[in-house]
Amino acid sequence: MALQVACNTAVSGCVFMMRTEDEDKDRLLREARDHVREQHGKEFTLEEIEEQFVNEVTVEVEP
Ligand SMILES: [Zn+2]
Repeated sequence: MALQVACNTAVSGCVFMMRTEDEDKDRLLREARDHVREQHGKEFTLEEIEEQFVNEVTVEVEP
């Protein structure tokens, strides 16, 4: 499994999306938080980012 975060701050045209391994979760959360703050001027805690923006995704591994 991997983690994916996609921006859904209701700003049309924003295509921010990031995908990382499970163990990189802290970095994923921080990057997403910084993006939302810098691009959209909204403050979220890491917990809020995790609840509202992050999904687990299955990654197909190349043979
Ligand atoms: Zn965004």
